[in-house]
Amino acid sequence: MLKKIFNKYTLLSIVLVAMVGCTTTSTKKGTVGIKREQLLIVSAKEMNKGASLAYQEVLKEAKKNKKLNTNNKLVKRVRYIANRIIPHTVVFRSDAPRWDWEVNVLESDQLNAWCMPGGKIAFYTGIINKLKLTDAEIAAIMGHEMAHALREHGRERASEQTLTQAGLSTIAVLTGAKAQTMDLASLAVNVTLRLPNSRTHEVEADRMGVELAARAGFDPYAAVSVWQKMEKRSKGKNPPEILSTHPSHKNRIKDLKKYSKRVEHLYIATKTKS
Ligand SMILES: [Zn+2]
Repeated sequence: MLKKIFNKYTLLSIVLVAMVGCTTTSTKKGTVGIKREQLLIVSAKEMNKGASLAYQEVLKEAKKNKKLNTNNKLVKRVRYIANRIIPHTVVFRSDAPRWDWEVNVLESDQLNAWCMPGGKIAFYTGIINKLKLTDAEIAAIMGHEMAHALREHGRERASEQTLTQAGLSTIAVLTGAKAQTMDLASLAVNVTLRLPNSRTHEVEADRMGVELAARAGFDPYAAVSVWQKMEKRSKGKNPPEILSTHPSHKNRIKDLKKYSKRVEHLYIATKTKS
């Protein structure tokens, strides 16, 4: 009984500490001015470990099916774009350029791309080929996906889920049921590949994305044409898979135009420098 009471209060205090003390923000504002407190109770280290495991699983599976990096030229192109952007992640967080970034291309008809916590990126051949993406458009998607990782949206959503789970666990302890432990690898998959991002997360990723692309020397307005292409596709029989995790909104293109304009001088500066 004592043990049960201890567990009950331990869990309750974890929940309370989490609710009171963990509104942290690890990113800087950038030119686009990203500023919002976040609830981050899952440790970054554990989250990234889970994501890394999940990513290795995705790569292993793709390799087994001969779907991993099948087109050398395309892999080089996508990695070149990523490598141009990565140094500029420092604008949002000083540790990011030293992250263990990984970029791979998966052979698939899907119109999809994602970045798991910690910088584990996948681009599907479908999105590049079917939307006939230019380098600047790939950079726009890349910047957006990187922003989700920089801003730790996955960790934030995992934290929200853990809180719910902790609440459930408290009830479980009270009722004598066994508390469940969270599996961070499957959580990483869920928050990256399955669950839709919130509107708030999408807006932040859009704005950070255009700044990253602009600073890396890619026309930030390419983000506008990407979503215009996506919008056209979304009306068809097979809407882009990326829309299931990146809900599109009427105001998105308007906001992207506004923020592309705001960072345009950064793009122009890269052209006059060279
Ligand atoms: Zn997104």
